[in-house]
Amino acid sequence: MLDFLSERTIARHMLTLGGIAITMSSLGAMHPWIAGCGSFLVMTIVVGIVALRGDGRAAALIVAVAAMLSSGVCWYSDGDLSLVLALFVSMFGTVIMGLLSAIVCKTSHNRLQKINDLETQQLELVRKVYDYDGSTCLSGEIPIFGLSSSPEAASPSAEKPDTAFGQLLSELVEPSASPVINPDVFDFAMLLLSMQQIGHRLSSELKFDALVSAILDTTKEVLRCQHAELHLWNAREERFSNAVPSETAPLPDSMRAVLIQAAPLPASFAWVMQQRRILTQRDVLAGKVKAADLSGETLPKAIAPLLVGNDLVGVLVVHDAEDEGPTFIRMLHILANHCALSLKNSQLFRTIQEMGRRDGLTGLLHHAPFLDELERLVDEAQAHNQPLTLVMSDLDHFKDFNDNHGHQAGDKVLQEVAKWWRAIMPDHAVLGRYGGEEFIGALPGESLSRGTELAEMLRSALASHPVSHNGIQLHVTASFGVTELGNPATNATRLIRLADKALYRAKNDGRNLVETHDPLRPEIAMLAETSQFSLR
Ligand code: GH3
Ligand code: MG
Ligand code: MG
Repeated sequence: MLDFLSERTIARHMLTLGGIAITMSSLGAMHPWIAGCGSFLVMTIVVGIVALRGDGRAAALIVAVAAMLSSGVCWYSDGDLSLVLALFVSMFGTVIMGLLSAIVCKTSHNRLQKINDLETQQLELVRKVYDYDGSTCLSGEIPIFGLSSSPEAASPSAEKPDTAFGQLLSELVEPSASPVINPDVFDFAMLLLSMQQIGHRLSSELKFDALVSAILDTTKEVLRCQHAELHLWNAREERFSNAVPSETAPLPDSMRAVLIQAAPLPASFAWVMQQRRILTQRDVLAGKVKAADLSGETLPKAIAPLLVGNDLVGVLVVHDAEDEGPTFIRMLHILANHCALSLKNSQLFRTIQEMGRRDGLTGLLHHAPFLDELERLVDEAQAHNQPLTLVMSDLDHFKDFNDNHGHQAGDKVLQEVAKWWRAIMPDHAVLGRYGGEEFIGALPGESLSRGTELAEMLRSALASHPVSHNGIQLHVTASFGVTELGNPATNATRLIRLADKALYRAKNDGRNLVETHDPLRPEIAMLAETSQFSLR
């Protein structure tokens, strides 16, 4: 009613009625029958148009006006109609027009109502999507819902999901809450939800391991699949590696390398890599993808390339998805784009973080990150009652070396020394550049004697391998101090202080020596020069 009485509507009705009045008066100048029929026709058209807009009150008003006007025209004209007949004609016309407008009105009203419902539902879904403030990582399964043909899926008695995202989805598809579920509207909302969820979850995760599990969880929830895999592409080694390696059968690195070398790239992965497109089982079975070598392979539901520009980051493999329709492909496409970007971001973040932690010249840890690592190792060693040995070294007369050979030669020596540290110290050792020409290594799980042995190997290697610089062989030696975690070296600070003391003893005793600080055996362990080593 308010809409009917709005200013614009009233103006429109006035204009319409004015037009009708003019038409009828010009018709009235002719024969009253022509005037009556003409008016009736004009009114029918007007009523039809008004009724089609679903404006029932406007239609009724116009019918009433039409009836009065037509009867008036018939009555006042000089025609040969009696008053009773004129009234009868106008009433008859009114009834017909009333019926007509009622039918048209009802039909168009229903249709308009449906369109309004859908629009409201869509707006409501969009509003909910944007209002929704989900937590960063929502694990757990959401129930099968929505377009699925499964009856229990849409059943209100279906178990409520325990994740906020799942609850929101089930709320959106709850039959009682939304009487008209239109698949397109639902897909649209799902797409929005998924995009928001995917973006929200994946962009907020920079830690690689957490990101991998967020990607797999999101894939399972959004694509409604039981199992998904993420394989990362290693461009240098030209192979894929599963981002979540199987925990059931851990393999030693050496064996895994052999197996990986022997294992050929699956044809499906090769196809995705080459075509840079999503490969679906459905397309292969339907013959839409022509690749002979794919026919012999057991294919998953879909494999999506993870691309950033033209760089392949990896592939996302989806197993057992319920639906493979256009929505599924669209979602997989969106998901793959987000995953690729997030993985790339995470890799870059890791690289930048490492760059900040490591010294540019030697590649070893800077002072502060080394101390953090040492504190962590001390805590671990104490918690598990494991040995931890610290080795410190300082190059001998390095100031003189720089003065004699120049700082570039000195830098080259520092790089070579770092290489020797990496070559001789075990893989699990944490190595750092403590100061200018001071190096340090924490050896978790290694005893004082083993640490001393390794320090001696290092000392010997440096002393016996001159560094080649601009065709000149440069000789350099270093002094070492070694100590083990235990009384009195009960924390990282004390451990370093005692290793430092041992090192200065080595300096005072003539340099190119390894000295230990052993609270139980205070005498200095001097080990014979033994093996030869090669750089890594
Ligand atoms: P000592 O045997 O007693 O250790 O004598 P030293 O001359 O080595 O004395 P010290 O350890 O105090 O000398 C540190 C020298 O290391 C001073 C500096 O010229 C040199 N140095 C420190 N950092 C760098 C670097 O990054 N590059 C080069 N080329 N030299 C460095
Ligand atoms: Mg020094
Ligand atoms: Mg020195």
